[in-house]
Amino acid sequence: MTFAPCLNRFLLLVVTLILAANLSPTACRAQHLPNPKHTDSLDRFFQIESWLPTPNAQRTASGVPGPAYWQQRADYDIDITLDDKTQRLSGISRIKYHNKSPHTLRYIWVQLDQNRFKPDSDSATTTTAPSLSPRISFRGLNSILARTVFEGGYKIESVTDEKQTALPHTIIKTMMRIDLPEPLKPGMSTGFEIRFSHNIINAKVIRARGGYEFFEEDENYIYEIAQWFPRVVSYTDYKGWQHKQFLGRGEFTLELGDYVVRITTPSDMVVAATGELQNTKEVLKPEWIKRLQEAESSKKPLFIVTPEEAKQNESEKSNKPKTWIYSAKNVRDFAFAASRKFIWDAMAVKVGNKTPLAMSYYPKEGNPLWEQYSTKAVAQTLKTYSKHTIDYPYPVAISVNAKSIGMEYPMICFNYGRCEDDGTYSERTKYGMIGVIIHEVGHNFFPMIINSDERQWTWMDEGLNTFVQFLTEKEFDRDYPSRRGSARNIRDYMGGDKTRISPIMTNSESIYQFGNNAYGKPATALNILRETVMGRELFDH
Ligand SMILES: [Zn+2]
Repeated sequence: MTFAPCLNRFLLLVVTLILAANLSPTACRAQHLPNPKHTDSLDRFFQIESWLPTPNAQRTASGVPGPAYWQQRADYDIDITLDDKTQRLSGISRIKYHNKSPHTLRYIWVQLDQNRFKPDSDSATTTTAPSLSPRISFRGLNSILARTVFEGGYKIESVTDEKQTALPHTIIKTMMRIDLPEPLKPGMSTGFEIRFSHNIINAKVIRARGGYEFFEEDENYIYEIAQWFPRVVSYTDYKGWQHKQFLGRGEFTLELGDYVVRITTPSDMVVAATGELQNTKEVLKPEWIKRLQEAESSKKPLFIVTPEEAKQNESEKSNKPKTWIYSAKNVRDFAFAASRKFIWDAMAVKVGNKTPLAMSYYPKEGNPLWEQYSTKAVAQTLKTYSKHTIDYPYPVAISVNAKSIGMEYPMICFNYGRCEDDGTYSERTKYGMIGVIIHEVGHNFFPMIINSDERQWTWMDEGLNTFVQFLTEKEFDRDYPSRRGSARNIRDYMGGDKTRISPIMTNSESIYQFGNNAYGKPATALNILRETVMGRELFDH
């Protein structure tokens, strides 16, 4: 979690909710009184103070961090190679872990999210079987079959300390415990290295948060690579290790840190990633560098790689390797995308005293929609979110086109939205695409900067994000057909079967009606608070 020096009222409300909600549920509760307002949680005017945990030295009642607040940190230095022949990643991750807690640690937990695709994962063995009656679609059946034959999951080749001495480790499905040779005392740091590899999932067939898409026409791939390297589990004052198995829904909970990542791909691919490119002259053509410099002061999107150049790239099929070096500071994760097919455009956005670049990467199959709207939607998101929450602190914000994914990572996200083969598109496709871009870029604020525990609570990032998404859509286009945020859009859900409505404070894996509960309900409540209860002037103050 990071905190701006000056918090507006909305942000203060958010921080208060997050800090309070993360306190231990076993903390003291108010004394019960014989008044239904205090005892009957179904009473419409139930006093929720009795649910709130007692403030402590880490998390104060005012909503700001207490004098004893701490959070851990993990820095990564990674070399990764993408094999375009076998759709496989292999590499080495060097992790520096900083123990800022007042506790001595004897082991460190690491998340192995790719193990979700192994046949013995909790995700595979606990998923409800699909209904075969009255019939199942070909796509649905194909996906089930593909999961049974896909050789997913990590191959962990070694776990060592910085001197290459093997460290004892235990893998339990999507989690790995590394035992430290010496206890890690408060204030101390330790380094370790993990060599790993795994197959990349076919995102067209198996529903996932990243993967590859193959284009038969020109025999090229788009790779969108996420949750791909072993990542240190968060360790907090309210939870200890957040080593809950990854089932696929509760996204991730991670520490902030600095990253240097060297990504090796075939030399004719264009690579987009979290952070700033460090070796521009080695990997970009001189004309691309010149255009990128022009984009740094452009108020509208400029092509860095033009549609014609991308078409040319599609046919090259180089076998020579090229390494792109990216660096990112103070991020909780790292994702990237690579393809020969990418058209790339960028524009500058003025936010506070910074001018981040809004950028998009997309294949010709996304046009003309993408060159018209994607980067403009990214820019609008940075402006509106910065106005209502905190100034966007990162140097870039990237939207990458995917077939059917909508998923966020720091500075980069993957968004659906494609035209028909003849280049036409419906209003529904257009607004669906702009909406998902605003939503996923908006996640940079919640939970990438305001770092909440996604494995525990979904509403904290999805609900708050959906509320500001609604405000952004209205600023992008006053008649924007927003899916969520208006009271009328949630009427049927709120008036529906009460046994299928769970409180927003429900663990992310156990929520009924995920979208309405974690996205729609908090967004609508904040919207009513702003429009009806407080009024815009006071709410936005
Ligand atoms: Zn979301």
